[in-house]
Amino acid sequence: MIVMKFGGTSVQDEEAIGRVIAIVKDRLEERPLVVVSALARVTRLLVSIASEAEAGHAAKVAELLASLRERHVRLAQTLLSARPDLLETTLSDIDYRIGRLESFVNGVCLIGELSPRSQARVIATGELLSSIIVCAAFNAAGVGCHLADARKMVITDDHYMSARPDLQATRDNVRRIYAEASRGADLVVTQGFIATSEAGSTSVLGFEGSDYSAALYAMALDADRVEIWTDVDGIRTADPRVVSDTCRIERVSYDEAAVMAAMGARVLHPLTIEPARIKNIPIRVLNSKNPACPGTSVVRGDEAPAGPKSVAVRDDILFVTVKARKLLGVTAMLGRVFSELDLRKIPVVMATASDAEVYLTVPEGNDALAEALEALSAWADPTVYRDKAQISVIGRGMVSFEGLGDKVISLSGKVHMVSLGTDLLSESFVIDRDRLAPTLAGLHDYIFKR
Ligand code: ASP
Ligand code: MG
Repeated sequence: MIVMKFGGTSVQDEEAIGRVIAIVKDRLEERPLVVVSALARVTRLLVSIASEAEAGHAAKVAELLASLRERHVRLAQTLLSARPDLLETTLSDIDYRIGRLESFVNGVCLIGELSPRSQARVIATGELLSSIIVCAAFNAAGVGCHLADARKMVITDDHYMSARPDLQATRDNVRRIYAEASRGADLVVTQGFIATSEAGSTSVLGFEGSDYSAALYAMALDADRVEIWTDVDGIRTADPRVVSDTCRIERVSYDEAAVMAAMGARVLHPLTIEPARIKNIPIRVLNSKNPACPGTSVVRGDEAPAGPKSVAVRDDILFVTVKARKLLGVTAMLGRVFSELDLRKIPVVMATASDAEVYLTVPEGNDALAEALEALSAWADPTVYRDKAQISVIGRGMVSFEGLGDKVISLSGKVHMVSLGTDLLSESFVIDRDRLAPTLAGLHDYIFKR
């Protein structure tokens, strides 16, 4: 069997869902489990509903709920116009879902408080709604389709907004529920992103988490392949929204894809790779608007070629330098700095050290960082630079790619830090943020357009 995940833009309207049906019909003999995200932009709408409710803006909440309802009702009406019976049950399912959401957010409005648990419950509605409609659309198209509830399959911890699954419990549930749902069906549809905590409340796997759900189902069901359907021709050599002329990556290893995600490439949800790697299940990233394109295969290292795969950037980082007031040696420097960071669970993206200095990049928006730097001030001078960015070249064996450092220096004017990643799969440079765009474009063309 295979798992096919369709993202928000792949199910956003009647046309898109029509394409999904055609693509899935083509693969029915491979017994797909279809996983859907919320319709495009719906998760964002639900996030607004939750925060407006928390702020007690009842009228705004009502207005947003009305647009949520209208979008889904209209889509169901267009897709199911030829099947009044299906339309009727689908509209009543939509009504039930939105009715429950409405009473819940009205409660949030009154209390004026929104816990992560409540927020997860609100935003899970997007996937519940889209899956109801997609399942009905398959049935209307003559594909006998059953819906499996992801909340009965994926069991997580209680970090409600970025919950982590209990793999064993999830595996057992997926196998049981999928077997039940498959009985008498041509196809099973389920939701990505949503789950249930051990305590029995709805949780979500973090934004963009549907890819991860798909990999979890694939692992549980020993799938032959996971297909991630989006709206670009596979994984690109750089972000196509920033670089005008990117290339499709044909094959990339699990390790390279994981490093790409960590270094800021918008590839797959970073956790997606792990379940697939454990079972050696290939992941294919495909374009629902251009299904003939072979996309990108994410496979085992020995099945992917060496060489640079992508240039990724992160501008959501802070560049931090810590200078010791007295020479301590590399070991003591790193030990002291990292124990303060570890104590406060501050994630580090990159680090290098000399005997008197440590250079780091850390994600922005971590409140505990100031506290850690305060503690380090007892024996060192920490400085935080906000106007920096990180640019990384990723690929096995790319370290032997000649002239990379020189090229980055000439394009950016100045390199503040260089770091080689794990297994030499990446080389990263910290540069001035205002030089990021020309450096990215120039470096991309230097590597991929020669
Ligand atoms: N709908 C969720 C989001 O927008 C999950 C996903 O699409 O992967 O983040
Ligand atoms: Mg997505």
